[in-house]
Amino acid sequence: MKKITLFFAALLITTMAFGQHKHGNWCITDQITQDLMQNDPDFAQKYQESRNLINETVAAQNKQKKQAITYIIPVVFHVIYNDYRDNISRAQIEDGLRVLNEDFRRMNADTSNTRAIFKGVAADIEVEFRLAKKDPQGNCTDGITRTQSALSINARDNVKGLVSWDNSKYFNIWVVNSINPQGNPGMVLGYAYLPQAGQSGSRDGMVIRHDRVGTIGTSTGEGRTISHESGHYLGLLHPFNGNSCTIGDGVSDTPPVAAANFGCDLTSNSCHNDNPDLPDMIENYMDYADDNCQNIFTLGQKSIMRATLQNSSLRLNLRSTSNLTATGVNSPPPCQPTAIFEAERKVICAGESIDFTDMTEDGDPTIWSWSFPGGSPATSSQPNPTVTYANPGLYDVTLTVGNSAGQDSVTYSKLIYVKGVGSSVHYPNWSESFEGASLPTPDVTVVDGGDGIAFEITPDAASAGSQSLKLNNFTSTVMGEIDEVISPAITTIFTENLSLSFDYAFAARQTSNEDELNVYASLDCGETWILRRFYRGGQLRTGANTTQPYVPAANEWTTQTINFNAYVGPDPLLIKFEFINGGGNNFYLDNINFTGTIGTEEYFSDRLQVFPNPASNRFTIQSEQFELNGSVLTLSDMTGKQILQTTLETNNRSYSVDAAAFGLTPGVYLLTLENEGRIANKKLILE
Ligand code: ZN
Ligand code: CA
Repeated sequence: MKKITLFFAALLITTMAFGQHKHGNWCITDQITQDLMQNDPDFAQKYQESRNLINETVAAQNKQKKQAITYIIPVVFHVIYNDYRDNISRAQIEDGLRVLNEDFRRMNADTSNTRAIFKGVAADIEVEFRLAKKDPQGNCTDGITRTQSALSINARDNVKGLVSWDNSKYFNIWVVNSINPQGNPGMVLGYAYLPQAGQSGSRDGMVIRHDRVGTIGTSTGEGRTISHESGHYLGLLHPFNGNSCTIGDGVSDTPPVAAANFGCDLTSNSCHNDNPDLPDMIENYMDYADDNCQNIFTLGQKSIMRATLQNSSLRLNLRSTSNLTATGVNSPPPCQPTAIFEAERKVICAGESIDFTDMTEDGDPTIWSWSFPGGSPATSSQPNPTVTYANPGLYDVTLTVGNSAGQDSVTYSKLIYVKGVGSSVHYPNWSESFEGASLPTPDVTVVDGGDGIAFEITPDAASAGSQSLKLNNFTSTVMGEIDEVISPAITTIFTENLSLSFDYAFAARQTSNEDELNVYASLDCGETWILRRFYRGGQLRTGANTTQPYVPAANEWTTQTINFNAYVGPDPLLIKFEFINGGGNNFYLDNINFTGTIGTEEYFSDRLQVFPNPASNRFTIQSEQFELNGSVLTLSDMTGKQILQTTLETNNRSYSVDAAAFGLTPGVYLLTLENEGRIANKKLILE
């Protein structure tokens, strides 16, 4: 019921209203359109021409009432990642595309949530998005490019200079770590350029946060941001465009909306100039309601999007038969796959499992052949197998993929670090001074963030002995790059006074550098990490700023101590040192000492069972934690007089005692069990 009468005014009003959104502005398509208008004197005219063209086509279409055909749009995802954590999987991208296509085809699972008053205008847009199968040079592609760049953080159009495909042939979607709000309140989830005439080809397309793609992997939502931004890409405006009940989105069947709707307020009715006075259609993908509240595009929005594909000079070619052939989406060419895979975790404890994900590019595999030396299963023909590692070690993984066009194989050497658990080797003490010729793997694990520069042993400097562990952060130029050092699994059961100390040395290049050192603990073998301490800015720096590769002098080391008493327990403890590149110089780590003492009597006693108690004759001693063989069992009476002492010979964790056979008479006894220096006490009553 709303008309865009003067777009210029609409933009101005929208711009002025930014500050009114208490929840922020999670899409900034309005702002970038406003920026264009300020930087391009002809923009308002070009924009109005585009809108007129769309509106004329919509009007003509309504008269003709032709049967619609499904338009197919080739898509390329450019994953611009800062580090491995935002380098999202192919599976996540395919899941994002699934959500997009379901929403556009009204095949989403939540159509039943569309309120009855709006069900009649719900539309199948009859537009389908497909990953490109040929790149601009005609080579095989899986429709995904990957580029590591710090531009991924606080990204804007600057990421488009890294990689961009012809926008007349592909819908470019850049996936980034985060988007620069540039003064807008709150977090920006995505934005897309509207299809106005004269749009720059290198700028056209969508930018979206990695955690808004799909519903799996790093996603924190239901993947609706991509549906919203694709709506903009095909010409849709926000229903609250202009923040006015009279300007609006120019769509005939979306009720007027005075301001963006957040959350999921079904009572929202911000405009009463419509007849009948309908509530705000908060379930529309183009409003700002929560992902799980959105479920509809309307017939009016369908007309605009299809008119865009029929008449916009920017979008016309996308769906053409010749382009579908050129981009390979009509009949995908046979392409030899390039084997790539990812492990969900690279550091685990013995007995744990890892999910492996096929990330093969270029061609779609039809066969998978995995090899997991040291794992179970040792081989697999599944695309995404789960493998268990029983024994500590450092293991290779090989994936071979193939289809009718050929096959490819890749081996990642020493990919999986399996830490030993429950051993007495690190019970509870662990010391490492990096004096060996190589790292004591897998006890000590170093994980490279991806730039090929990892922690390594160096003779250049040491705080103890003659070597230390160095991160050549001077040479690493990837801002935000994360490098890790992970401890062995430390056994902490029955211990106390746990403490970590270590020495480090670091210098910045200049004061503005933002390098960080974080120390974490994990009680689930590295699945989740708890931050124990961080070092930033001047606190991290032990030497003076230098633009030469930093080598610390003897007096430039600092010793740090962290209490770990909260981590006593049956689960193995892992400690992680994480260094984040903030443009500074080299970092050195040395003289790591984790110490504690064994033998908390109360702890032992709590985990020793004696039953039945009182006992008439036979009673059983049972330990939760260890085999009883070699344990010394002592029974004393209440005067402290030793009545019985015997060494147990059993491979079990329980031992049955015949009281009469030992000559024990009814009374109250103190039962003591001693095992490798650990002592437990129990009161025993014989009746
Ligand atoms: Zn938007
Ligand atoms: Ca050393």
